[in-house]
Amino acid sequence: MTADPVHAELDRLSEEAAAQVIAWRRHLHRNPELSNREEGTARLVAEHLRQLGLDEVRTGIAGHGVVGVLRGTAAGGGRVAALRADTDALPVKDLCGTDFASRVVDADYPGGPFPVSHACGHDCHTAMLMGAATVLAGVRDRLPGTVLLVFQPAEEGPPVTETGGALAMVDAGAFADPVPTMAFGMHVTPYPKGYVGYRVGNQYGASVLVRITVTGRQVHGSTPWQGVDPMPAVGAVLTGIGQLYRQVSAFDPVTVTIGHVEDIGRFNIIGETVTLWGTVRCAVEGDMPAVRDRLRRLAEHSAAAYGATAEVEYLQPVPPVHNTGPWVAAALPTLRRVAGGERVTETGATLGYDDVSELVSRFGGLYVMLGVQDATLGENGLPVPEEGGRGLVTNHNPRFYADDDTLVTGVRLHAHVAYDHLAGTLLPAE
Ligand SMILES: [Zn+2]
Ligand SMILES: [Zn+2]
Repeated sequence: MTADPVHAELDRLSEEAAAQVIAWRRHLHRNPELSNREEGTARLVAEHLRQLGLDEVRTGIAGHGVVGVLRGTAAGGGRVAALRADTDALPVKDLCGTDFASRVVDADYPGGPFPVSHACGHDCHTAMLMGAATVLAGVRDRLPGTVLLVFQPAEEGPPVTETGGALAMVDAGAFADPVPTMAFGMHVTPYPKGYVGYRVGNQYGASVLVRITVTGRQVHGSTPWQGVDPMPAVGAVLTGIGQLYRQVSAFDPVTVTIGHVEDIGRFNIIGETVTLWGTVRCAVEGDMPAVRDRLRRLAEHSAAAYGATAEVEYLQPVPPVHNTGPWVAAALPTLRRVAGGERVTETGATLGYDDVSELVSRFGGLYVMLGVQDATLGENGLPVPEEGGRGLVTNHNPRFYADDDTLVTGVRLHAHVAYDHLAGTLLPAE
């Protein structure tokens, strides 16, 4: 097979865009915005897409979503590749240790004020897709199909009183015309720089947010017998969660985490309610209904044992990110060409989530991990920190970091995957 000359052109244009991608990334990192508040980010993206002269730049989709439509002018099969980046940041302090670390505080966000940072690396995702837009617009006359550049807000979950995210973009009709024939996304991750990890099956698990409101009866702290203290009931719920795992097959990973406790008591007041906010993750989606039922039963009955009541609500369900065998097989030659064969490796599943699953499961396509940290790959296939490096730091940690020089690999991944799909070489076997 002779090499397709467009591939070399994609690489050349990516190298040309690399410095600009790093500048965008640093700008976004300094100016992070929480879920459903991505105004400045959306403006930057839309301005860039307009400058490229795309056929359409749709803005304000499901909040601050932006979709650029790039119609290639080469004759071809009419396929449509949707490339997706998430744009929102997290309520996490920025301790990444660079001179472009964020000092932003969002004072008005529900539940805030919060320090805001790109501790999940969505600044990289946004900048890489902006770069890919430049690259693909540069070969428009050789694109035999359409590229949708999808900049999605609220991946981390909007405030619970709001809607947002990938499903909200679907519901808003963002993918109705043209309908994608594949969706592609990636996530920066604590994996060796420039490595691409893939997994057949669930890359990420199924997720749901849980809110448990335990209600007692408020009373003076000196006379607990005259009221109902919700706190011991909460303690029983937290302890009981540790037993839920044993009610699901030990071969199916499950986590139930309560990450935030909200109460209205005071040192001398037994408050009326305690609210627990958490997340349930299941590697196997089929386990989710049983885990939800058991957690509900645990909370309601634990509360009853102390004379209190519990209300359990499940919000913002996200299906698992599932890569099918045929799509992975179709994409492997592209991934290997971009990253180098030895840097494309199979990874394990994680219980993270990504609502890109709403697109990949609807339209087909795939999702990969892009390594951005100072590490090598150990013999067991797990990353090992590089000596003298910045270590391995997971997403959502205030010290999470991503290597700038790796971003060009992400730009090339987007560009090559889209082009190969439109050209008909990245298609799952029937
Ligand atoms: Zn995240
Ligand atoms: Zn993320």
